Amino acid sequence: CGIMGYIGNREAQPILINGLRKLEYRGYDSAGIAICDGATIGIRKAKGRIDVLESQTQKSGLQGSIGIGHTRWATHGRPSDENSHPHFDQSGKFSIVHNGIIENYLDLKQELIEKGVTFTSETDTEVIVHLLAQEYDNNLVAAVQKVAGKIRGAFALGVMTEHEPDKLIAVRMASPLIIGVGENENFIGSDIPAILEHTRDVYVLEDGDLAILTKDSVHVMRLDTTEPIERELVRIEWD
Ligand code: GLU
Repeated sequence: CGIMGYIGNREAQPILINGLRKLEYRGYDSAGIAICDGATIGIRKAKGRIDVLESQTQKSGLQGSIGIGHTRWATHGRPSDENSHPHFDQSGKFSIVHNGIIENYLDLKQELIEKGVTFTSETDTEVIVHLLAQEYDNNLVAAVQKVAGKIRGAFALGVMTEHEPDKLIAVRMASPLIIGVGENENFIGSDIPAILEHTRDVYVLEDGDLAILTKDSVHVMRLDTTEPIERELVRIEWD
């Protein structure tokens, strides 16, 4: 149960996998990454250790400088390749990672199935990415805010889409998430150790915060407003 995200100029794959390794102590049963190369999102994910994911990426790697990664501690749906995160919508243009539990996912899933959506996993998480694709109207932030208003429970999210391949979105609600601020690169992490080898400047998100990351900016706002807010940039002095 960990999240790692990267946006910058470097290759995302090794940064995400190393970050996930720093989150191993939290426990997990599966791991995965999604990377956008500026046009298309590719996903690699597998049940088991991060080594299993890494050997998959060694056979067939993902290129690109924007990505999200996840270690899963299964709550809904057994540990399996399909249930591993990142999850994706039917177009394949949206991808998300999620830590936490969506309490009302069964109702949402039923509604989506009635609208013709096909699910590829047994997770509570997957409803989020299908809702996102449905709500999307050329504004990822607005779509994420709408979906956050429909889901109940605990969620830390990392979100990206091929439609806006210059940004990552992070959301924190009752599940920890921090933002690491680098030079021409920014990070999402469940915890500070995941990003500490890259930067010591951190925003600690609060419940109900949404952060928009580009490679050279971080804007934080609340899930229910469009005005940016100020969060204190904390300098981490420990190792
Ligand atoms: N509830 C989600 C799942 O079972 C996320 C679990 C987690 O926090 O790793 O897939």
